[in-house]
Amino acid sequence: MSDRYGELVQSPLGRKVAKNLGLPMPIKLDRYELGQPVVRGELALGLSVGDDNSVSDALADILQVHQAKIACSEPERFALPSSSIKTRLEDENARFKVVIFDASNIKSSEQLQQLYQFFQPLARRIKSSGRVIVIGRPECCTGTDIGFALAQRALLGFVKSIAKEFKQGITAQVLYVKKGAESELAVALEFFMSAKSAYVSAQAVTIVDAYQSATPSELTAFALNKSLLDKKILVTGASRGIGEAIAQVLAREGAKVYCLDVPANLAQLQKVAGRIGGYALPLDITADDAAEQIVRACGVLDGVVHNAGITRDKTLAKMSQEQWDLVMQINLAAIVRINDYLLENNGLSDTARIVCVSSISGIAGNLGQTNYATSKAGVIGLTQATAKLFAGTARTINAVAPGFIETKMTSQIPFAIREAGRRMNSMSQGGEPVDVAETIAWLLSPRSGGINGNIIRVCGQSLLGA
Ligand code: NAP
Repeated sequence: MSDRYGELVQSPLGRKVAKNLGLPMPIKLDRYELGQPVVRGELALGLSVGDDNSVSDALADILQVHQAKIACSEPERFALPSSSIKTRLEDENARFKVVIFDASNIKSSEQLQQLYQFFQPLARRIKSSGRVIVIGRPECCTGTDIGFALAQRALLGFVKSIAKEFKQGITAQVLYVKKGAESELAVALEFFMSAKSAYVSAQAVTIVDAYQSATPSELTAFALNKSLLDKKILVTGASRGIGEAIAQVLAREGAKVYCLDVPANLAQLQKVAGRIGGYALPLDITADDAAEQIVRACGVLDGVVHNAGITRDKTLAKMSQEQWDLVMQINLAAIVRINDYLLENNGLSDTARIVCVSSISGIAGNLGQTNYATSKAGVIGLTQATAKLFAGTARTINAVAPGFIETKMTSQIPFAIREAGRRMNSMSQGGEPVDVAETIAWLLSPRSGGINGNIIRVCGQSLLGA
């Protein structure tokens, strides 16, 4: 669905009027196009002072592949050729597309000053749709070292603030990588440096050891932009909206996609499946034998995306039990039943990935959505508990929590509430279904074995539940 205001402010006149009236000024976000490089401009790299080089060494390995032009705070300490950032900033035309700061050595409140020293001169030097990534250590590394723990937690406050300040479609995240798991950093770093993460901002991602790393053939497929080559992946609710975009992106990455939707949507479902060379599976996920039918149609799956969902919005006082029950059945109970059946009946491969679609309503709550928010918060609980079950195996489960995404679901919201929902985020615009789809493709990757139990918001840093 179209965002007329967003289109209007792209014109010089529209921009001028919006600026004078102090109205939101959404910019056109860079989005991924096939063959586009991961790093789309000069990269600024900061290294915190300290003796742990494990993150900076991993960064050198990762960035070597992308052949980026790098300006570094300590070029002599970094393993790749780079210029001095201080010298680079003397050129007033120098602008950066990606800014990375390795904060893994910051262990006290005093040392946090390094954030200021590195980022302050860069604050007006980041290009539109730029990327800021801070790398830290998760709680399991900081333990009871209070200085280390507070400093690492403080990174998130910093990142969430610059994500609000920098505007211009610039995103900012913290990647908390466990010591010893630095080799698992690559796939997350690449996602967040690239245009694929256009609408993901102010997130904290925890990266731990992978039980099993990607195989050589999976790595080769990844290098050829086919990160999901021959993976059998089920996508529910695939006939339109976010599900359709997920199916398209997974097919682009080489997956064999099983597109599931209610039988009433069969014609549209067949169109989607036909277009991407996938398979149509008309099925209501709340049917008693839904999981059996899935196994019969798909065999052993490498991935499942639980995307199908509905809203039946009413304030609690006006909500019927039917409206409550239907939302719970589709959004939550069906996922539990399908996962249980797949796990008990060898329906998932040993390296399978599950991604659930939650919502920021499940994090922040929302007026008129007690049923929906309860179901989507339940999805988060289900994801985190299943992740514990998967720890020590090669399987992973994660969730995405979209904010306002331009689909049929959001087009049905009354105008004033819709316009507020669309603008109340750091990007001043709604996301596109593809933004959710790219995030899911990253989590499904065979290289994402170190990412388990994360809840990633795809919401342009929505003010709701921030
Ligand atoms: P959508 O356009 O309504 O598409 C959802 C699809 O799921 C529809 O085709 C729907 O069919 C299907 N579905 C519903 N019940 C089903 C069932 N029992 N079995 C199989 N398929 C079923 O929704 P969307 O906006 O793309 O949302 C996709 C997911 O993202 C949902 O889980 C939603 O809660 C979540 N989400 C969306 C937004 C957003 O801004 N759009 C924000 C946060 C979270 P029908 O024609 O029967 O409805």
